[in-house]
Amino acid sequence: MRETFTARPLPGIADESKRLTHLFEAPPAGAPIPERITALCNSAEFGYSELELLTVLRGMPCFACLHKTPRSVPQVAGTP
Ligand SMILES: [Zn+2]
Repeated sequence: MRETFTARPLPGIADESKRLTHLFEAPPAGAPIPERITALCNSAEFGYSELELLTVLRGMPCFACLHKTPRSVPQVAGTP
């Protein structure tokens, strides 16, 4: 899986209650930035200019995206 980043819609782009923090797959290095980008949960699509890029996890997380978060810690046998 490629690099990921977190972002949420800027104020005014979505209702405040729907400004979830989603997880997005970053475009490959050197590739053109696509006009629209879809969150890993496949339920949200935005233009880059509509997103607030987050360097730390803030706001209400999108739980569907969290389930698709790549694991950086090796799993231990017997754990989910
Ligand atoms: Zn999401």
